[in-house]
Amino acid sequence: MSNNKTTVLIIEDEKAIRNFITTFLSTNGYKTISAKNGTEALSLISSHVPDVILLDLGLPDIDGLEVIRKVRETSSIPIIVISARSFEGEKVKALDMGADDYITKPFGSSELMARIRTALRHSHKVLTKDLGGQEDFITGDLRIDFNARQVIVEGKEIHLTQIEYKLLAILAKYVGRVLTYEFIINSIWNMPSDKNSQQLLRVNMANIRRKIEVNPGAPKYVLTEVGVGYRLADIEA
Ligand code: CA
Repeated sequence: MSNNKTTVLIIEDEKAIRNFITTFLSTNGYKTISAKNGTEALSLISSHVPDVILLDLGLPDIDGLEVIRKVRETSSIPIIVISARSFEGEKVKALDMGADDYITKPFGSSELMARIRTALRHSHKVLTKDLGGQEDFITGDLRIDFNARQVIVEGKEIHLTQIEYKLLAILAKYVGRVLTYEFIINSIWNMPSDKNSQQLLRVNMANIRRKIEVNPGAPKYVLTEVGVGYRLADIEA
């Protein structure tokens, strides 16, 4: 049975954090392997092929960003960056280089579990995406019918502009995951991310919230990741 367990690779030089994550994940049914630096990590990745990678960006030998670059040359294993406050700017770079998500220290165990579940679900989705027609997307009381291009909240149809619909659809495609300003702006407008395009994005997001959120000031669906981007909350029905 242990062969069916999801394997998580923990790359972290701080022993206390490494041990905490290892213990926690083991008790929750995951198989764990760990590395205390980047070199060790890269060799474990090719020998063990983990299902998820938790990566601390501040490593003693090679830069965490370099680890992401190396892994992405050959594989799409989900990478969740463990970011310290002093590495705030780095996490945006990490996401743009192909990391799937990040979690900021100090973090709680439930937050960590949620991030891992989302990363795994997404990697499974990628595998099965092109089989058959597109299903409706649902999070909480929000439903998107992609075939009809309809957005329904609590049973009522919401009228979005073309751009607003595209924005919501891309957030839905990556539900639960943070999307950077750069990624969203590139995908929707094919423009570089700068002050003007980010302002344009903010205005559109504010309009979406006004239309879909019960309380746009404390959004339940479209969440802001300060200095990074946006995330659509993955809410179980
Ligand atoms: Ca570190």
